[in-house]
Amino acid sequence: MYHELFRHASFWAFLFSVDEDLAKATREAGCPCGGRLHGANFPRKPRGVREKLPESYRYRLSFCCERDGCRKRKTPPSARFLGRKVYLGAVVVLVAAMRQGPSPRRVRELNELLGADVRTIARWRKFWCEQFPQTSFWKVARGRFVSLAMADLPRVLLEAFIHRHDSREDWERLLRFLSPITITGGLAIGGHS
Ligand SMILES: [Zn+2]
Repeated sequence: MYHELFRHASFWAFLFSVDEDLAKATREAGCPCGGRLHGANFPRKPRGVREKLPESYRYRLSFCCERDGCRKRKTPPSARFLGRKVYLGAVVVLVAAMRQGPSPRRVRELNELLGADVRTIARWRKFWCEQFPQTSFWKVARGRFVSLAMADLPRVLLEAFIHRHDSREDWERLLRFLSPITITGGLAIGGHS
């Protein structure tokens, strides 16, 4: 089962290393004003897994421009945090996809394991069915997926990316793919379809 992987601290540590990569690229790009970026992480209290998460999950990597008069914030994409939400991206994808299955028992099991209540899961469903398909990100990206029904989100993403349930690399590809929606403006509604 997918969620077996979530029980291993090494999986969460691995995703943190992906975030460090993404942050490095952001930092090297610098501020559009030409200023350098310095660390200004956001505190986070992630929910969605019962297991004890590494310390690194207490914050989301972020930067501020160090130039006076600019001080603009720049937050890199993340493979861990989906938008401003405190739930972990992997959990949001997995639970929402499982919810599409026919079995309420499965949902209850996931509840117990991952700690997301029914209301939260319903919100995620809404996100995948209504908000996500409208984004510019998805309108461009969906070309990669053939014959896709909206009702299949996010399950279709799991099927496309995760070939072995316990493969970190597969999860990395999926979460990297989704990472553009984790930054400000990433969930902007697209103009064309
Ligand atoms: Zn700046």
